[in-house]
Amino acid sequence: MGVTSGRRFQSARVAEFKESVIREMTRLAIQYNAVNLAQGFPDFSAPAEVKTAAQRAIAEDINQYSITWGAKSFRDAICNYYRRFYRLEIDPEREVTVCCGATEGMIASLLALLNPGDEVVLFEPFYENYWPDSQLSGAICRHVSLRPPDWTFDPDELRSAFTEQTRAVILNSPNNPTGRVFSIAELTSLARLCEEHDCLLLTDEIYEHIIFDGQRHIPPITLKHMRDHCVLVNSLSKTYSVTGWRVGWVIAPPELTASIRKVHDFLTVGAAAPLQHAGVTALNLPATYYSELARSYEIKRDLLIGILEKAGLRCYTPKGAYYVMCDISRFGFADDVSFCRYLVEDIGVAAVPGSSFFSDPANGSHLIRFCFAKKPETLEAAAERLARLQP
Ligand code: GLN
Repeated sequence: MGVTSGRRFQSARVAEFKESVIREMTRLAIQYNAVNLAQGFPDFSAPAEVKTAAQRAIAEDINQYSITWGAKSFRDAICNYYRRFYRLEIDPEREVTVCCGATEGMIASLLALLNPGDEVVLFEPFYENYWPDSQLSGAICRHVSLRPPDWTFDPDELRSAFTEQTRAVILNSPNNPTGRVFSIAELTSLARLCEEHDCLLLTDEIYEHIIFDGQRHIPPITLKHMRDHCVLVNSLSKTYSVTGWRVGWVIAPPELTASIRKVHDFLTVGAAAPLQHAGVTALNLPATYYSELARSYEIKRDLLIGILEKAGLRCYTPKGAYYVMCDISRFGFADDVSFCRYLVEDIGVAAVPGSSFFSDPANGSHLIRFCFAKKPETLEAAAERLARLQP
């Protein structure tokens, strides 16, 4: 055995890392020719004008590095967008860092703002990247449960998660995987705790426009006294159906942005220049684009829930984002992983085991997640296959 295959070359940092279950499920879906309702990405087209803008940018030779923290035109467009939607004034020169997706935005922010031993409060179930992100930054996670059926948290449990070491809270609203959209009362109570404990609130807002039943997205940065505490992470991926572009951004106060930009610079140098250029077109799409996006996703949500319930799966109706969590207890499988294996291999539909969103897998062993960012015919193909499922 060569030395390079030995464990002695593995850093202690990654020793506990497992492969991303979400991305593993996509691979299994391909292997078994299953309908992929696992990894969250659309199987339909991005807006034509956004694609044309990217093609044009490449043809016009916008093919070299942009400024490391983002092309000026794209940072300006980001600031216009926040003025337009939330009446927020952001300085494109000192408060914006363009990154390779929200994924890089989150890890660059944590690496830039936390020290080993600092504590991070995470709502659980959580999007699977936040735990390894915290690990890479040397931080310790404190979990606060989101409880079904509405996925609300207990305010006392939240309060007791804060300690002398708490430096940050990560909040994802609309939430992946639960679809929870946090209320103004919940956001305000969280904001007060961040203020009291002088800690940061990192908000992952990538599903801000995918929101249903008349709910409204409230960026915590717009709440009183929160401007200095918030690090807002967002991206083009979900709003414009371009998850493969890897273009996102972080908005933070100038001193924090200076640190985030340093980490970003050494990690990746910059996000794809022509795609930032096309991002200007995306961010300037008319209001009808955003209302139509929410409406079409609401129709997809209702279609998938109808299909899943007919197949005997108990669904928690999401208020935002593009996932449905289901309870599989009645099927009598040992756990979520064996159920998902059966689903992908024998039924031909890929979902994500719920345990991948929990620190203790046992807490998610009765749950699985389906994604509905799919064409109606993809959802119908899943329906045909799921008809064979026996509760
Ligand atoms: N956010 C998406 C999901 O939860 C995609 C995850 C990923 O693979 N980056 O499925």
